[in-house]
Amino acid sequence: MHSADTANRKTAGPWVEIDLAALCANFAMLRGAASGAETAAVVKCDAYGLGLAPVAEALATRENCRTFFVAYPEEGAQLRKALATAAPDATIYVFNGPLPDTIGIFNDAQLTPVVNSVAQAREWASRKPGAPCALHVDTGMNRLGAPVEDLAELAALSDLNVNVVMSHLACGADPDDGKNSEQRDTFAQAATLFPNARRSLAASAGALMDASYHFDLTRVGVALYGGSPFDVDDARIKPVATLNAPIVQIREIAPDETVGYGATFTAQKPTRIATAALGYGDGFPTGGSNRAEAAVAGARAKIAGRVSMDLIGLDVTALKTPPQVGETAEFFGQSVPLFEAARACGTVPYELLTGLGGRVDRRYV
Ligand SMILES: *Cc1c(COP(=O)(O)O)cnc(C)c1O
Repeated sequence: MHSADTANRKTAGPWVEIDLAALCANFAMLRGAASGAETAAVVKCDAYGLGLAPVAEALATRENCRTFFVAYPEEGAQLRKALATAAPDATIYVFNGPLPDTIGIFNDAQLTPVVNSVAQAREWASRKPGAPCALHVDTGMNRLGAPVEDLAELAALSDLNVNVVMSHLACGADPDDGKNSEQRDTFAQAATLFPNARRSLAASAGALMDASYHFDLTRVGVALYGGSPFDVDDARIKPVATLNAPIVQIREIAPDETVGYGATFTAQKPTRIATAALGYGDGFPTGGSNRAEAAVAGARAKIAGRVSMDLIGLDVTALKTPPQVGETAEFFGQSVPLFEAARACGTVPYELLTGLGGRVDRRYV
């Protein structure tokens, strides 16, 4: 009831509170952690589900962020609009580089492509001779980027103006994985072919690893939004998003009664169930069924039964004060760490954030 009242909004469905000050604090922390490099913000996928325009504007105006990365050209066009006042001069890189069909979007929105192959590089250089681009070199992830064998050919393309050469770590989630230093060394060697380009290897994980991973430009995403990029939680990262749902019904059930589809929860004793308005339709994974916990009135309550499309049952039997209809259950954020919620759902913070559905009201604080 309280947070609903302070937010002064209707509470028929779930909402996520987005703390833009914490977002900016994470940006400043990441910039400090890689102080020899410029920090660019990765705002693909609607800023990891938290809202492209408000996130990008906050980073541009409060932290003077001037370099952004998105995945698709359409996202770049939306971002260009969103930054029209706050940072019309911002550089917007698009990871998934240009295709014959999308060159027009790059032109109209003044986007800078990341070229990922000789074919893309030739296409860009012939359509826009001398126009800047980034070049993604694949150093072992085998996902996107030009193979190292093609670099000499790329370096020789006279109309290709590479101003950033980049690569991406496959195993940043575990800083001790030997693949990280292998990729770093391959990358450093590859970058010597492009002496005028700035070098960018680190995403959130790399930015929080030692300085040998920082190079000239970091590309930070998940840590901005409060998610640890590692296999463990990271106390340097502040929570940004808090997912709340109103409790819409309370019921008392007897031993041997069950909860939800498939009757996967069976009461062992007289049990009080609070039903919250949130479900997999809002992006809360079914993997959290009978495992993940919510915070209700300062205490923890475990999910009882299967997560369904619009509703989740919580076992609130142990709460000293029984919750009331209209009270709030928090599924991650201030009280339940995002990392813990993701783990309990069998996923990672990235997926919990980007999965937040269209019904979840975004509220900026
Ligand atoms: C998504 C992405 C990033 C950001 O990664 P985080 O782990 O969220 O910081 C950086 N670089 C590339 C190539 C990406 O695809």
